[in-house]
Amino acid sequence: MSSNAETAQAQAASAKPTRLAPIVTPDAKFFWDAADRGEFVGQRCGDCGHYRFPPRPMCPQCNSLNTEIVSLSGRGSVCSWIRPLHPMPFGFQSPPVVATIDLKEGTRMVSNLVDVAFGDIRAGMPVEVSFADTMGNHKVPVFRPVGG
Ligand code: ZN
Repeated sequence: MSSNAETAQAQAASAKPTRLAPIVTPDAKFFWDAADRGEFVGQRCGDCGHYRFPPRPMCPQCNSLNTEIVSLSGRGSVCSWIRPLHPMPFGFQSPPVVATIDLKEGTRMVSNLVDVAFGDIRAGMPVEVSFADTMGNHKVPVFRPVGG
């Protein structure tokens, strides 16, 4: 191994995430704990089966407090997107793409798009979940393009 490769490897190993850790509320603790394990989960009503996001105690369809925590497909499509340039979002090396994602389960969430040039993003573009490291050894779900 050349010394350049060793230096690059050492720099990568010592690079710590600068992205802020998520703010964990009691209602969403299950979601963030799962993300830390690389799992993408959500809430489904135990009575009517309605999926909901963001996490909250009561079903907006039938007012049931009977909640199931279920694995989500991690698949969806891009609804809308922006790239906030000013002020530069704290903790990012370059402006992130902020997008609303329509999940296959029927909920919509705000996240980031990664591994795609801003000009290549299209409405309805299929995406899948991935996870980005944050400060404090946590992870947050992000989305990347999948398939054609
Ligand atoms: Zn319900």
